Amino acid sequence: MESHASEIRQAALSLLRGGTGNAEVSRRLGVPVGTIGYWKHLDRAERGECPGSHRPDCPRCDGSPLDARAYAYLLGLYLGDGHISHYSGHRVPNLMITCDDHWPGLMDEAHRAVQCVFPFNRVCRVRKTGCHNVKVYSKHLACMFPQHGPGRKHERRIVLEGWQEEIVETHPWEFLRGLIHSDGCRITNWTTRMVGGQPKRYEYPRYLFTNKSDDIRKLCTDTLTRVGVRWTVLARGSDPFNVSIARRASVALMDAHVGPKH
Ligand SMILES: [Zn+2]
Repeated sequence: MESHASEIRQAALSLLRGGTGNAEVSRRLGVPVGTIGYWKHLDRAERGECPGSHRPDCPRCDGSPLDARAYAYLLGLYLGDGHISHYSGHRVPNLMITCDDHWPGLMDEAHRAVQCVFPFNRVCRVRKTGCHNVKVYSKHLACMFPQHGPGRKHERRIVLEGWQEEIVETHPWEFLRGLIHSDGCRITNWTTRMVGGQPKRYEYPRYLFTNKSDDIRKLCTDTLTRVGVRWTVLARGSDPFNVSIARRASVALMDAHVGPKH
């Protein structure tokens, strides 16, 4: 009798896992629908799928796996053009990465990175004037971005936690790509010089990173130094908000690992 009951339960579970509804399983097997619901609940809980139960979806809360490479890139984007907000009336906060419509390739990369870091959450794009916000809702945004806080980023201290520093040390170029893709650019200055009586055009590509936060600029310049890129600070007016990379060898390194926006 015990084994017969167990067989019925197994039959019910295989129907449920195949997508058959509770009422249909109940009818086919002659088992009360409440029992079917209970079996389904136990089965999903055992497999960690039960809504509201301990679902493994936060690397910080329950040690679920993190795509560290995608995270390093996303952290750069977040520190540049990212924003975490909590609308009244919505119980879950959201992360938005603002992506300029001029750079559809970057928007795709941002979308992929958000999806890799939050694999269980739906990522969407919200159209704004001249840009889209790549957006995800998650209860664990503050776990993943502990730099979140009241006020604007340049008005508060931005310090990485130890686990974030480790990720940036392992994936420095991904972090730099995120920073440059949000608050940086590759520009080409040019000039002409007379060579043998003929005007000759010389081009000087450079990368710029512009951010009002001293802490975020320092994260950028410390990482640049670590990967062997030489940089200087350009003072625009009296505010030294621009980090410039102009030496030929350093620009070549940046071209190999970061490249222009696309
Ligand atoms: Zn968490």
